[in-house]
Amino acid sequence: MTLPFCDADGCVRAGCDPVVCRGKGVASNAALFERSAAVIPGGVNSSIRAFKAVGGTPYIVSRAEGASVWDVEGRRYLDLVQSYGAIIAGHAHPKIVEAITSAAHDGTSYGAPTPREMRLAEEIRERVPSCERVRLMNSGSEATTTAVRLARGATGRDRIVKFAGCFHGAVDALLAAGGSGVATLGLPGTAGVPAGAVAETLVVPFNVVPKLDESVAAVILEPLPANMGLVKPAPGFLKGVRAECDRVGALLIFDEVISGFRVASGGFQQSCGVVPDLTCFGKVIGGGLPIGAVGGRKAVMEELSPLGRVFHAGTLAGNPLATAAGLAALSLLNDGAYEFMAQQAQRLAAGLREAFAAAGVAAHVPVVDSLVGLHFAPDIAHDFDEAKQTDEAFYARFFHAMLDEGVALAPGAYEVLFPGLAHSNSVIDAIVDSAGRAARLAAAG
Ligand SMILES: *Cc1c(COP(=O)(O)O)cnc(C)c1O
Repeated sequence: MTLPFCDADGCVRAGCDPVVCRGKGVASNAALFERSAAVIPGGVNSSIRAFKAVGGTPYIVSRAEGASVWDVEGRRYLDLVQSYGAIIAGHAHPKIVEAITSAAHDGTSYGAPTPREMRLAEEIRERVPSCERVRLMNSGSEATTTAVRLARGATGRDRIVKFAGCFHGAVDALLAAGGSGVATLGLPGTAGVPAGAVAETLVVPFNVVPKLDESVAAVILEPLPANMGLVKPAPGFLKGVRAECDRVGALLIFDEVISGFRVASGGFQQSCGVVPDLTCFGKVIGGGLPIGAVGGRKAVMEELSPLGRVFHAGTLAGNPLATAAGLAALSLLNDGAYEFMAQQAQRLAAGLREAFAAAGVAAHVPVVDSLVGLHFAPDIAHDFDEAKQTDEAFYARFFHAMLDEGVALAPGAYEVLFPGLAHSNSVIDAIVDSAGRAARLAAAG
């Protein structure tokens, strides 16, 4: 086995650092994390990765392939994190690696338009008909920021309505009652956001159609929330929100940063049949590289600069590597791929339900297409208040028991599981076997 930094006889990699290896011939997670924390606040570049919600020291990844990641100590984990959904074809998929490599040979950024960004935008429009025009950018957070600015600019109104538990990235105006890391950290929002930045943000409960008035520029939501566990929209809810937006002339923004190109070729809007004015994308469309996109009705999208008065720009927007990776990822996502992922998600969920039942743990494992949620409470959740009933302490014990088994879940009770194209039957079955033992251990306290 090739160890990531050193082998027993000494360093095998250029740049291997004896301080990290401490003369043991192998780098250690703890030593690397400590060293990172001396230069990167908390040792991480995205809060949830620090394991605050589950305790312990993060594993530091050296490489990944398919459904597996390896840490710097050479331990392998079957991975259900999959970069929080940015990876759908499995890690280091040969087609995506080849696309990135080949693009890199042509240069990595120019500051001028390229054919690849045009093709990715066309691919998005073809799959998601509501996206008559598409603007590419660098992250999901940038997409939601831009969509909100665009909605305000296009309507001439200021107010934004968001739903508690829906997460829209690290965006000042949208951090109130966010899911994901915000929920995990138990923050009501975050310090550093002035009251003025959220003064025009109204937070309402999910699954209840809000009563709007003509001050509302837009309603933004994850149509299939996947940052407070996995919460299904109640029948009629999304249609109701659409109708209420139409009644007052507000725009409807779907944040499909997770669900886009993951639950179906046309995103969750294809499954639910409700057409938004604007859609935010990220994650899957970058093939694991940084990306974001806003798509929507032509008339609204053309309010963006340079055609309209709503400014948007980005030095690396439409990046050649990210668009190459995204195009390669989308090329793998045919009908058979979605069918396969949905099957694997069902197999995983069935196995997990059995594992929790056998351990006497009150659990719900909701599934929608390829997304799987975990909710440790007697009753299934319909909104953020109910989602927060999940037993976070149990999740933390289960998380660590799974990690000890060699299975990586996200280090937070509100994240979902991301089985993808690399999660074969044998991978799923191994995860389920582990879950059986881990659930018993976690239930024992
Ligand atoms: C991840 C996520 C974002 C933020 O995307 P980044 O690329 O992390 O900025 C926005 N909305 C949803 C629903 C997400 O899951």
